[in-house]
Amino acid sequence: MRAVSLGSGSKGNCTLISSASTSILIDAGFGVRDTESRLAKHQVSPDSIQAIFVTHEHGDHAQGAGRLQRAWNVPVYASHGTATGARLEQFSPLRDGQPLRVGDIEVTPVLVPHDAREPTQFVFQSGEIRIGICTDLGSVSPHVVRQFQDLDGLLLEANYDPQMLAQGPYPPKLKARVGGDHGHLSNQQGLALLQQLLSPRLKTLVACHLSEKNNTPAHVQSLWAPHVPQGTTFHIASQTDGCAWIDLTELAHG
Ligand SMILES: [Zn+2]
Ligand SMILES: [Zn+2]
Repeated sequence: MRAVSLGSGSKGNCTLISSASTSILIDAGFGVRDTESRLAKHQVSPDSIQAIFVTHEHGDHAQGAGRLQRAWNVPVYASHGTATGARLEQFSPLRDGQPLRVGDIEVTPVLVPHDAREPTQFVFQSGEIRIGICTDLGSVSPHVVRQFQDLDGLLLEANYDPQMLAQGPYPPKLKARVGGDHGHLSNQQGLALLQQLLSPRLKTLVACHLSEKNNTPAHVQSLWAPHVPQGTTFHIASQTDGCAWIDLTELAHG
């Protein structure tokens, strides 16, 4: 199974997960043309996408969902809350903790604490390989820690540096929202979660959803890198370019 971020941050999020026979998009934070050009950079045709999963209704995740669904004629999966919030006309419902299958990828939605109606992040499994996407949560619940164990690849939120957020340009209300229990994970909170999810099995880690105003890749790098085990590759996804392909196909554990 392979994964690639096509762009990550408050201006839009989209991730592609691919197995030998199945490709799915996670989130639709970009318009049709933008998504297609981001896919083209990785030599992926929109025709190969079999489904779109939407984590929650915030614009940076859902604004393109309806348009992509119509343009590509693919099913969209979302929780009832997300579908309502995003005004999706047609969707296949997701429930926290109930896996479903698209082709040979099994997708398990994981409810997270975030200021949306029913936000879910995801664990993907194909064969023995497991990849998790975990962004847009303001705090770490025991449920999250339990569901994201034993991963081969992890895309994890590192939204803000607390000092940059405190001294930055956001109005007080927005600062409180971002830093609150239903906002986003700071670099420190992301690291604390990472430390609970680390296993010898984890081959690739990608820091995601960095705030452009309240964080820098250098902050994330200096805080996280010393804690990343030697056998784990570490990337930081960007708003413009996402990240390079994470290929876990040849890295089956055991
Ligand atoms: Zn977001
Ligand atoms: Zn959000």
